[in-house]
Amino acid sequence: MTTTSSGSAFAQVNELVAQAGSVLNLKKGLVDAISACEREVTISIPLHRDSGIEVLTGYRVQHSSARGPRKGGIRFHQDVDIDEVRALASLMTWKTALIDVPFGGGKGGVTVDATKLTPLEKEEVIRRWTRTLINVLGPNRDIPAPDLETDAQTMAWLMDEFHRLEGFQPACVTGKPVGLFGAPGREEATGRGVAQITAATLQQNGRKVEGATVAIQGFGNVGRYAALVCQELGMKVIAISDVSGGIVDKKGIDIASIFNVKSLADVQADERIVAAEVLEVKCDVLIPAALGGVINENNMDKINADFIIEGANQPLSIAADRELRAQGVVIVPDILANSGGVMGSYFEWTQNIQEFSWPIDKFRRELDVRMEKAFGNVHKVSKKYSVDLRTAAFIVSVERVAQAFEMRGSLV
Ligand code: NAD
Repeated sequence: MTTTSSGSAFAQVNELVAQAGSVLNLKKGLVDAISACEREVTISIPLHRDSGIEVLTGYRVQHSSARGPRKGGIRFHQDVDIDEVRALASLMTWKTALIDVPFGGGKGGVTVDATKLTPLEKEEVIRRWTRTLINVLGPNRDIPAPDLETDAQTMAWLMDEFHRLEGFQPACVTGKPVGLFGAPGREEATGRGVAQITAATLQQNGRKVEGATVAIQGFGNVGRYAALVCQELGMKVIAISDVSGGIVDKKGIDIASIFNVKSLADVQADERIVAAEVLEVKCDVLIPAALGGVINENNMDKINADFIIEGANQPLSIAADRELRAQGVVIVPDILANSGGVMGSYFEWTQNIQEFSWPIDKFRRELDVRMEKAFGNVHKVSKKYSVDLRTAAFIVSVERVAQAFEMRGSLV
């Protein structure tokens, strides 16, 4: 996440928390207490490569346990730094509170260009990360999950390393492969939730879902499933990009037919664009589902969509958010739009604890019902206080976390 003139990524989240605190009339000390990170661990990861030992930096930030064990993904990316991990950990606190699951917030990362790691190197990095952080992890302390450039296989290695040290506890991590205690439905959950929220937003605003045009940045876990389910719901995905670049087809791209490609560079297309241009395509709905900070002061004037559904975390700077809302763009915030992922993780965690597995239909039904409930609640609060959807979402979650913090007593 880039630092913009609106401040660092973590400062931007805390600005939203303070704003919600002021609407709720919370004491300043309480707002400060629930905004701060409970624990931050920075580690070094010596990686043996052909060229010699390379020392990587890894992080786990535990933002809050007020409402349950910390929960949040691990990302492997060259831009990861402590500020970004703090911001993402904090967003997890507000997201888990918003959808009312019994988790707090945490996030991890390793500063590395994962596209340059061999599978064996990736395994070594996640095993070392797990070993070094073992004292702060566990099903009742802090439960990681996939994020940028980490996936079900990475979580399988993490689980295996955890088991070697602590014994069999599959609930120590979510987003695992289905053949290794993962939950059918978890992999698609974030993208499915993004697509359902997109349809609900169109309907809420009196627009037709059928034929609505959609542009998506990112064709990884979130973007791929969001695109597929948008298509299944009748929308027309007219542009999509990944790190290799993007493709455009005004008639609609058949997502099902390209779903399994490794890279969009391998797809036959008449019209190609550079990766960032997908954000500027004229469409009804824009879904940023890759990196943070991609819509900012430099490109906000070029956005050409009526709705932005935040599949990625913090894709808009505060300035861009303000400016685009002033122009009438409806923005559905990350803590609501991509919360299907952690909802799905909650289902996986509970199934692991109960040693019982749900069929995928039940998983999807529960996910859809709970996402609809969270969506309805944010809209209700937005009307009640006459505020935008992001402010409303923060009002709901900040109130819940503040209550839990206070009920735990004064001697915490
Ligand atoms: P991923 O690694 O599976 O996919 C990332 C995608 O972004 C890839 O297609 C990659 O090529 C693309 N990308 C990278 N750099 C790009 C660039 N400069 N321009 C265009 N595309 C680029 O990651 P993911 O799990 O899909 O996560 C994407 C975003 O969604 C992240 O912000 C993550 O924090 C957020 N998120 C993920 C989950 C989840 O369950 N995976 C849940 C909630 C939020």
